[in-house]
Amino acid sequence: MRALVLDAKWDPRPDYAVSDWEKQTGKAITGSSIWRQPSLQVRDWPDPKPGPKDVVLAVQACGVCGSDMHFYETDKDGYILYPGLTRFPTILGHEFSGKVVECGAGVETLRVGDMVTVEEMIWCGRCIPCRNGYPNHCTNLEELGFTIPGAFAKYIAVDEKYCWPIEAIAQRLGDEEAAFELGALTEPTTVAYNAMFSRAGGFRPGHYVSVFGTGSIGLAAVGLARAAGAGMIAAFDVSPQRLKLARAVGADQVFNPREVNPAEVLLDLSKGAGFDFHVEAAGAPQITVPEMEKALAINSKIVQIGRAATRVPMYLERFQVRRAQFYGAQGHSGDENFPNVIRLVGSGRLDLRPIITARYGLEQTVDAIALMAKREGGKVLVKPNL
Ligand SMILES: [Zn+2]
Ligand SMILES: [Zn+2]
Repeated sequence: MRALVLDAKWDPRPDYAVSDWEKQTGKAITGSSIWRQPSLQVRDWPDPKPGPKDVVLAVQACGVCGSDMHFYETDKDGYILYPGLTRFPTILGHEFSGKVVECGAGVETLRVGDMVTVEEMIWCGRCIPCRNGYPNHCTNLEELGFTIPGAFAKYIAVDEKYCWPIEAIAQRLGDEEAAFELGALTEPTTVAYNAMFSRAGGFRPGHYVSVFGTGSIGLAAVGLARAAGAGMIAAFDVSPQRLKLARAVGADQVFNPREVNPAEVLLDLSKGAGFDFHVEAAGAPQITVPEMEKALAINSKIVQIGRAATRVPMYLERFQVRRAQFYGAQGHSGDENFPNVIRLVGSGRLDLRPIITARYGLEQTVDAIALMAKREGGKVLVKPNL
């Protein structure tokens, strides 16, 4: 089959101590300190063979993620920018939907023809964090499109237990193709849902919500905030196109943080009370969190979704007098995240269709990632059948 394969050289930086685990598994914990000279190419790769519990999916749509662009871009020494868990060569792509075309002998919950979306985190179910109910913190984690083959490909094989049916979306839309596109948005949306509702416990209807950064996870956060009954949603991003998209999915107020003082804006909008729920999806907490901190309502929350290898100045006295909390979140598995997001989309209460701004065929996947690297538009989809 054809697939977008990333290969790179295992060449640890001189100041990076490679652990025994990394040597044994070939997995880099901090990818940006080990993988050098990446090459991305659509090429031939063996067809996946299903294990007994696996289904083979014909991929229908796969979104380009910020992390994909961090494999494409390198620093001045030629290292990839993505700082997370990685093992190459592998097929990229982890935000996808597909149709079941083959089932292993032991598959019980799915049949050929079923429409599904899939978790990206391949949690083991056996380690202590998994057994304690924290699959997002699995110590044996594999990740589709990072450490094992992903979905910028004609086909992918995955264990049925990571698949979630999306027929409800097709039924509402009366359009399978559109349902597969929306299905591919499930993964980034569950990351926002997990952080806002499963981790931070959400907000009350009527509360004021700020979202910093409106890439696809920030846009999903805006859509979820509206679906959950926010009284006002203010979004911040440096891209005018993305601010337009934020409006399209439910932001009441949008601002370029280079043109305004975000904390002043939030205090103005709330008549001095502050905002109740702040979402960091910009990956720049050293800049955004101090702004949120100046606009904390009493009993408010900040939830950190964006990733950044940096320290953040926080004045904790402010958190005490405002009775405020800070939540860290990662991942999207467990906690009803997938089925609840699919319900919201299936009912029409969450409609993120406006955020899809470009579609490419599989052979053009590198172009799709290059477009994403401009950091301007919304979600770019790769569709193998295009
Ligand atoms: Zn992603
Ligand atoms: Zn585990």
